Amino acid sequence: MMTDFSKTRQAFDLPDGVTYLDGNSLGPMPVGAAQRVARMMTEEWSQMLITGWNKAGWYTQPRRVADRIARLVGAGPGQVVMGDTLSIKVFQAVSAARALRPDRRVILSDRGNFPSDLYVAQGLARAVDAELRVVEPEEVEAAITKDIAVLMITEVDYRTGRRHDMKALTRKAHEMGALTVWDLAHSAGAVDVALLDADADFAVGCTYKYLNGGPGSPAFIWTHPRHADAAQPILQGWMGHRAPFDFDLAYQPAAGIERMRVGTPPVIALTALDAALDVWDDVSLTDLRARSIELTQAFIAGVEANCPEVVLHSPRDPQQRGSQVGFRHPQAYAVMQALIDQKIIGDFRAPDVLRFGFAPLYNGLDDVARAVDGLTRILRDRLWDREDYMQRADVT
Ligand SMILES: *Cc1c(COP(=O)(O)O)cnc(C)c1O
Repeated sequence: MMTDFSKTRQAFDLPDGVTYLDGNSLGPMPVGAAQRVARMMTEEWSQMLITGWNKAGWYTQPRRVADRIARLVGAGPGQVVMGDTLSIKVFQAVSAARALRPDRRVILSDRGNFPSDLYVAQGLARAVDAELRVVEPEEVEAAITKDIAVLMITEVDYRTGRRHDMKALTRKAHEMGALTVWDLAHSAGAVDVALLDADADFAVGCTYKYLNGGPGSPAFIWTHPRHADAAQPILQGWMGHRAPFDFDLAYQPAAGIERMRVGTPPVIALTALDAALDVWDDVSLTDLRARSIELTQAFIAGVEANCPEVVLHSPRDPQQRGSQVGFRHPQAYAVMQALIDQKIIGDFRAPDVLRFGFAPLYNGLDDVARAVDGLTRILRDRLWDREDYMQRADVT
């Protein structure tokens, strides 16, 4: 293994004594991000004012930052752009893909997809007279038939961690004349994504999970180069115009992926993300994947050997799993609150799932051991059985 994961760990500012297994929801803060944002505020925003768009390169930042993400998802330079939230990017990608298959009206997805993706597709279907067809995750391949316009799939299931076979599903979709939109929310920075190799058509993802860009950091969108100049953005914002500062009243899309920009980029958030991506410079995705499998396998083995009350909710085969592990327990919410009280932070997903994300950049086998020990004690001694652990907070 070439990647030095003890070095990447030092790049994060984690509170003392915390085992953080929730980077699949919000990555921790890289030390460099705080410093870079402070500098951007005092040296750029404060001193350059409006000239920062040119002088500090804020205008081209969405593309520069995107090129760094391209490497992490197996895409090429100039093929990705940043901006907006993931839900918006899902809308853009699915609508553009659908428009490239005008004679078909079915968008196919699965019940393991994240609700926001399905809501967005429902709204789009209503607007453009399409049909959203939702099947069980195991049935996706068989459901790709000749009436499908777009296959909209989240590669790694947010609850179970089940990983779809991007290459195989894309091949089947293409055989049937459909296009694919891959949501990489739980893949980017977690597994070895290879978009070009899989021959995918569109992809989107967020950056505040395994990429550690900070709460609400902007999303990304990728279009395969064969579609980049044909894809029509439905959100025709001025920043995606070929010449925004001509203030032309008629919209003309920019060349390539730039047309998927919408409005003014969130420069402060992009600056934090840019700094967070520094941590990835010396990380090989092959090493990342190998370490992730080592951690999740050790965690599953430890929990199953010590906690008979919980049931594995993730695929047992690591090749069919992302970088997270779910276990079911009837009192999962209270159990997770008890764990968090012991500074072992995972999260709860309704109705009964304890979810643990493993990020090799800052998690090691010591975290696995602490989490196994903590969960073992909480279940054995029923430490979860307290009134205050049952009270649900707004964000779970
Ligand atoms: C986290 C996540 C989202 C969240 O979308 P936002 O617009 O960033 O709030 C959407 N889809 C999937 C698959 C996710 O995992």
